[in-house]
Amino acid sequence: MSKPSSKANKFSRRKGFRKKRPTLSAQPVQRLPAEQPDLFKDLEHHPRIIPRPEHCVSRKDIDREALKVLYCLKDNGYIAYLVGGSVRDLLLGRRPKDFDIGTNARPEELKKLFRHSRIIGRRFRLVHVYFRGGKIIEVSTFRCRSEHDDREATSEGIEDTNIFGSPKEDAFRRDLTINGLFYNIADFSIIDYVGGMADLKQGIIRVIGDDPAHRCLKDPVRMMRAVRHAARTGFTIETNTWESLLRHSGKIRLCAISRVRDEWLKDLSSGYSRAWAELMIKSGLFASVFSGYASALESEDKGLVRKLLFGLLGYLDRMVNDGVEVSEALMLTFFVYPGLCVTPEWQALKVERLKWPTHEVRSLLSEVLSPYDFRRSVRDVAVQILSSQWNISMCLSKGKWPKRVWNKATFRESVMLYDLVQEILGQPVIGPDPHLRSGPKPLKKSRRRKQRPQRIRHLISESEEIHV
Ligand code: ATP
Ligand code: MG
Repeated sequence: MSKPSSKANKFSRRKGFRKKRPTLSAQPVQRLPAEQPDLFKDLEHHPRIIPRPEHCVSRKDIDREALKVLYCLKDNGYIAYLVGGSVRDLLLGRRPKDFDIGTNARPEELKKLFRHSRIIGRRFRLVHVYFRGGKIIEVSTFRCRSEHDDREATSEGIEDTNIFGSPKEDAFRRDLTINGLFYNIADFSIIDYVGGMADLKQGIIRVIGDDPAHRCLKDPVRMMRAVRHAARTGFTIETNTWESLLRHSGKIRLCAISRVRDEWLKDLSSGYSRAWAELMIKSGLFASVFSGYASALESEDKGLVRKLLFGLLGYLDRMVNDGVEVSEALMLTFFVYPGLCVTPEWQALKVERLKWPTHEVRSLLSEVLSPYDFRRSVRDVAVQILSSQWNISMCLSKGKWPKRVWNKATFRESVMLYDLVQEILGQPVIGPDPHLRSGPKPLKKSRRRKQRPQRIRHLISESEEIHV
């Protein structure tokens, strides 16, 4: 048996990965992609191959587990590419959130190749490969169309069996040119069918293909994705893509509500939510996605709504980028408050006694965020923070802070929102008055006494170790 020649092959020899099985029903492709002329025979869409010395993607920046999967596929004769957002982020010098892999191996073959794996999805099946520590690497077989174009394909009578495709088709079924690049583990090159490399260099967000309007109509969520990536990268949206957004933004209402909600929640927590909101408003997508919010942005208070929205989202971005864990409820509160506080219903709310107008705020919240729904726990916390704004004003004017106000679990968040709004409007803030904030409860005396000697002993033993 010949020894593996490259250092890289060590990954395939590790436990947990099975070598090629002669019993597999479909024959894996034995040649490397560079030796497969049939893949690249279409001259019109001949890919640009960027060799390793001409790009910055290094294996040291790729997850160990993703490399294991890539090498295992390659060593078993399959094409193995890193695909999608991970290639984009690596080329931009950013750390990718996840490393997705594309291959010509079918789901059943993948399942046999990776012992700890599972096929997920019914129509568009992909494989999750599980690793110790809970890490999951997603591997998908090259497809000829996006799962979101599925509705149209089904109505045209295309069977499920026709979903697999070539690498070229897989590149073209994607959304944006910068998301359509492949990193080939066989020779460490970048394969570019869609012009993504040039767009990355020039800072352009462009929908793949000659007809962006058609692609946006097929799956309107692509418009939100164009805005997302423009906000995250600071790139310019290309003219035809931008015009498609302006013309077809209303079509987003045709998409499943839960899918659209998941998309914008991702943007709120991205660390670029302010830039995202600005582009959403400019493109007209904001009014279509948030029909209940749109009236506030068109009202006579629109200047105030924008000021508060951009100010609060700017603060949210700072928290996210500083690594602060922000709850979904607080994010939602920052997002919704500017639209809520200018409604006649909010302004007509008269809270004379120290009570929380939760019922009224809950129904206002669902109106402004209509048609989206949220987990009850998230909605309840958001309602609590919002309805506390009345009590905070009341406590400030009376100069008294009863325990039932500061003892609320959401008191810190409520004061944070109050102070931020005051700051944005140039008005006095409450500030970090310790009497108003419920800090962490002090340790019980008896526990402290017990812990101290232990700690001192620990320190002594440490210093002794150093001296020895
Ligand atoms: P993120 O950093 O947010 O994960 P991403 O580009 O990786 O960004 P994903 O939602 O993980 O986004 O999608 C992975 C890839 O799938 C994308 O890069 C893109 O190529 C493709 N994709 C996602 N959504 C669509 C869509 N609606 N239409 C076509 N291709 C899509
Ligand atoms: Mg991703």
